[in-house]
Amino acid sequence: MKTIEIIKPDDWHVHFRDKEILKAVVPETTRHFKRAIVMPNLVPPILNGYEALEYKKRIKAAIPNSDTFIPLMTLYLTEETNKNDLEKAYKEGFVFAAKLYPAGATTNSDSGVKHIKNVMPLLETMSKIGMPLLIHGEVTNKDVDIFDREKVFIETTLDFICKQLPDLKITLEHITTTDATVYIKSANNNLAATITPHHLAMNRNAIFQGGIKPHYFCLPILKREAHRKSLLEAATSGNPKFFLGTDTAPHLIDDKESECGCAGIFNSTYCISVLAELFDQKNSLSMLEAFTSINGAKHYKIELNKEKLKISKRKSPVNLLEFLNSHNQRIKIFHPDFPVYWEVV
Ligand SMILES: [Zn+2]
Repeated sequence: MKTIEIIKPDDWHVHFRDKEILKAVVPETTRHFKRAIVMPNLVPPILNGYEALEYKKRIKAAIPNSDTFIPLMTLYLTEETNKNDLEKAYKEGFVFAAKLYPAGATTNSDSGVKHIKNVMPLLETMSKIGMPLLIHGEVTNKDVDIFDREKVFIETTLDFICKQLPDLKITLEHITTTDATVYIKSANNNLAATITPHHLAMNRNAIFQGGIKPHYFCLPILKREAHRKSLLEAATSGNPKFFLGTDTAPHLIDDKESECGCAGIFNSTYCISVLAELFDQKNSLSMLEAFTSINGAKHYKIELNKEKLKISKRKSPVNLLEFLNSHNQRIKIFHPDFPVYWEVV
């Protein structure tokens, strides 16, 4: 049995939801991750420092005693966000970053930004005080094909923000395309990107393999195989601009298997196993630690974790659990369509 040891990973993009689901999913993250950036798209969204603090308390109450996990909170940016409140929430340490959702781009993003020009004064403030901006990078115009939304966002919006505010620290979240990897590599060092395990493991065929597969539906949607290969290349390259953000996004099974199923893949349980498998398949295990545990902390200029995590390769595939229980209902756990031999010890 082969065993490797890496610095304990951080998850730079997680959805914990709230109430019963929160209690069920928080331990799935805190078991393997030291820190995570927690997304603010609850109903209603987290709009100020006080709400972030209250949400953080609910998360902390769900962390098992054995885990030393640190949640990093975010604000949901709207066209009505008050500049002084934003600055205060960051400077007083209530929040770590702010998240920009184009209105209608994903789950609970109705309060998002309609016109980027309306939030430029907020972004200028963030640039001045060094507060990171996290972006869901997709346009939502009805005339743009769902598979092109990220590319068009980069051309029409991200490029504008980067040119206007070169000093603003930006993370383009859950990138899915070759276009994004090329743009990130060519941009200045303030722009970096997170990549999810499911976009590294699967292409868009997975959504339609033998019938409609709602548990592989997420936003941004899975893309062509050529794009998946670009993402895997970027993740395993050691380039410090790319790091892990799982975008783990739990929904109860009835909300996924529905006439209008929710977008989101719940992947925290086996994230590290799946990544080790993918990096191993690409003979790049030596780059795993940079992707999961180093590059993100360096981008955010915070110290590396001191704890370690051991991962072992078994002789036969690991038996992956299919569901996580949450108040008499179930959440489907993400499995890739290939066997996984790695597991956290
Ligand atoms: Zn997300």
